This record gives sequence, structure tokens and C-alpha cells, in this order.
Amino acid sequence: MTTPNTERARQALTTLSEDEVLFRDSVYAFADREIRPFAREMDEHATLRPDLIPKLFDLGVMGIEIPDSHGGGGASFFHAVLAVEALSRVDPSIAVLVDVQNTLVINAILKWGGSEIADRLLPRLASTAIGAYALSEAGSGSDAFALTTRATQQGDDWLITGRKLWITNGNEADLFIVFANVKPDAGHRGITAFLVERGAAGFTIGRKEDKLGIRASSTCELLFEDCRVSAANVLGEVGKGYKVAIETLNEGRIGIGAQMVGLAQGALDHTITYVKERKQFGKAIGDFQAVQHQIARAATEIEAARLLVYNAARLRDAGRPFLTEAAMGKIFSSEVAERVASLAVNLFGGNGFVKDYPVEKLYRDAKIGQIYEGTSNLQLQTIAKQLMA
Ligand SMILES: Cc1cc2nc3c(=O)[nH]c(=O)nc-3n(C[C@H](O)[C@H](O)[C@H](O)COP(=O)(O)OP(=O)(O)OC[C@H]3O[C@@H](n4cnc5c(N)ncnc54)[C@H](O)[C@@H]3O)c2cc1C
Repeated sequence: MTTPNTERARQALTTLSEDEVLFRDSVYAFADREIRPFAREMDEHATLRPDLIPKLFDLGVMGIEIPDSHGGGGASFFHAVLAVEALSRVDPSIAVLVDVQNTLVINAILKWGGSEIADRLLPRLASTAIGAYALSEAGSGSDAFALTTRATQQGDDWLITGRKLWITNGNEADLFIVFANVKPDAGHRGITAFLVERGAAGFTIGRKEDKLGIRASSTCELLFEDCRVSAANVLGEVGKGYKVAIETLNEGRIGIGAQMVGLAQGALDHTITYVKERKQFGKAIGDFQAVQHQIARAATEIEAARLLVYNAARLRDAGRPFLTEAAMGKIFSSEVAERVASLAVNLFGGNGFVKDYPVEKLYRDAKIGQIYEGTSNLQLQTIAKQLMA
């Protein structure tokens, strides 16, 4: 018996529920209205407009998976992916702020925080508090578990000492998930995740990086010197922080895939508008078949990237294995984002090379997708490991 058409349509990965469509469209409308007019200025000054933060909370994108009972949206991980994609279509810098908040920080707390931590922190994260996720250090990036930040026990408390690097949202965050080793002799089995509040004694925010792209997103150094954290602020178990880190990042990179899909779509949107308007040889450049084919190829690649990312997110929400799919989604979508943004620059001609038009920024922004939350080489390693197992 053949499957009815409606059933088939429901099975398509890009078929969204009514609620998902409304959510995605409201986030995009917000981004178009509240972010687009300021994207260039925020990029130029490498600052996030502070008034955007309360607006993002009001929009409901800062606590997407937090249950209603704790003041959040009570929605799915897939909703977070839709929000990140929609924001990134306009500004990937704002998308990553929302991405880290939802797919790393809240995600880790929902999974590893007990009811005390959930009751204490989730209502804040849903309403006013921004989170950051501090794993990387100067000497430990891809080899994340070589981290040298230490935590030593003193009575019921822990004292953290060390230096974190590259921490997204460092400038704005109120709450930091910080990974430190409590027992270096035990290697990665000493790694523990701690929840550290901004302003804690012994904790300072260091240098903010001056970046190639996603410049409105802050990327900061964090310094800890005997920073006291109570035992109640251990996230998960002592010595199990490596699991918190791996499992959270495995999911988080689906969000980066969504950021790259959104970026690529944004670049294509601008390009289609431009090639219909720009005239050479007496007609719109979009009338040339060579240009149409380049656009068609870009759209095809974006759709393929979106399918990979949506599939990984749907698998994650269904509680099914998604590790390979998430890695494939991230590597592919970040490469597509770079290619499509590059094409956009080409098709804008000289205008693609200057800051008066939005595509040069997207070209710079695209590069980060192949670096953070596991470089492309590391994604390939993950995929190969699964295939060869
Ligand atoms: C803008 C920005 C935001 C960031 N935000 C955060 C954040 O919020 N929290 C956080 O903890 N970190 C964050 N990071 C850090 C980021 O995750 C790391 O930069 C990334 O994991 C790569 O580490 P690395 O820079 O030390 O590069 P390295 O690990 O030194 O890698 C350099 C090159 O060597 C390759 N390489 C390394 N090992 C292997 C191997 N075994 N096989 C093959 N190739 C290999 C890599 O693929 C890469 O091409 C951020 C970084 C940036 C730039």
C-alpha cells in the first residue's frame, strides 16, 4: 500500500509543525526588525547593543528548553535550532549568543543539574541571566581534556585556579560553566564542571578578543585565582566533568550547524535580491544563466546542509543516536556557509568587497563554523571513528 501524500509530507525533515513555523517566523521577524538595522554597527565596533539582551529574553529565545514550571518556553532542542538558524540569517553573532545559552549552558544544566540547581538557576536563565561555557584554554583546544585549570577542595568548598580562553558571552554572562581538574593524576577522570557566578571573589574577566568575524559576540579570557565555589555548584558528579563536556558539545554542535545554515541562507537572500537589481550588458546579472546556475547550486547545498542539521536535531529530540549526524551536519554546513558567502561576495562584485553591503561581513563570519565546538578535522575524526568501530 502506498503512503498517503499527507503522511509523506509529515515525514519530510523540513516539514515543521504549526508551532515550529510560528516560532521560527517570529524569531526571524524580530531579527529583521531589531537586529538587522544595527548589524553593521555592532560588527564595526565589536560590541553587542545592550538593549538587545532584554528583548531576546522577552522574545522567549533565551530559555527555549527550560520547562514552563521554571519560566521557560518548554519547547524542544529543535526549536533552539530553528531560533539559531533564523537569527543567523540576519546576524550570526547574535545567533551564537542564543546558541551557547540554549544548546550548551541550559542544556547541560537540564541534563546534569539536580533539582536544587534547576530550581535555583533555571528561572534566572529564562528571564535575565546569560550563560557561558568555559572549557578551552591556551594549551588545550582540540585536546580539551589537557586543561590545566585546577580545583582543590577546602572544607565543603572548591578553590579554582587557572585561565580559560576564547569564552563566548564572556562579556555579558552572569553564570559560567567552568571545567577544572580536581585530580590531575587521574587525567580526564579528574575533570569536574563547576557553576561560577560573575563577580565571585577570585574570578575576573580578562582580555576580549579582536576577531575576524562574529565580532558582536564577545570572546573573552577568564582568570581564576583561588576562586571559591561551594559544593552545591558542582554540576554533575566530581570527576565526571569530561562527560558533561563531551555530551553537551555533541549536542551543541548541531546548533553551530544551524548557525551556518542560517548564515548561508542570509547570504543567498541578499544575493538573489542583488542580482535581480544589478544591471550589466543591458540586463539584470541574474538573467545570465551562469549566475542562475551558481545560485541554484548554492540553494541546493544549503538545503542539503539544512537536512543534515535538522535530522541530527530531530534524532537528538527522539533520544536516538546522533553523534555522526551532528558531526556531518557541522562540517558540511560550515563549508557550505563559507562557499555561499564567498559566492555572494563574487556576485556583488566590488560591492561585495566593501562594508556598505552585508555580504563581506557574512564571509568573515562564516569562517568560525570550521573552528569552534570542534574543528573540522575533529569532526572528521568523530565520523571516521564511528564508521570504523
Ligand atoms: C570565536 C571563538 C569562540 C569560542 N567560544 C568558546 C567557548 O565559548 N567555550 C570554549 O570552551 N571554547 C571556545 N572557543 C574555543 C574553540 O572551541 C577552540 O578554538 C577550538 O576547539 C580549537 O582549538 P584551538 O584553537 O586550540 O586549535 P588547535 O586545537 O590548536 O587546532 C589547530 C589546528 O590543528 C588541528 N588539529 C588539532 N588536533 C588535531 C588532530 N588530532 N588531528 C588532526 N588535526 C588536528 C585542528 O583541526 C586545527 O586545524 C572559541 C573559539 C573561538 C575562535
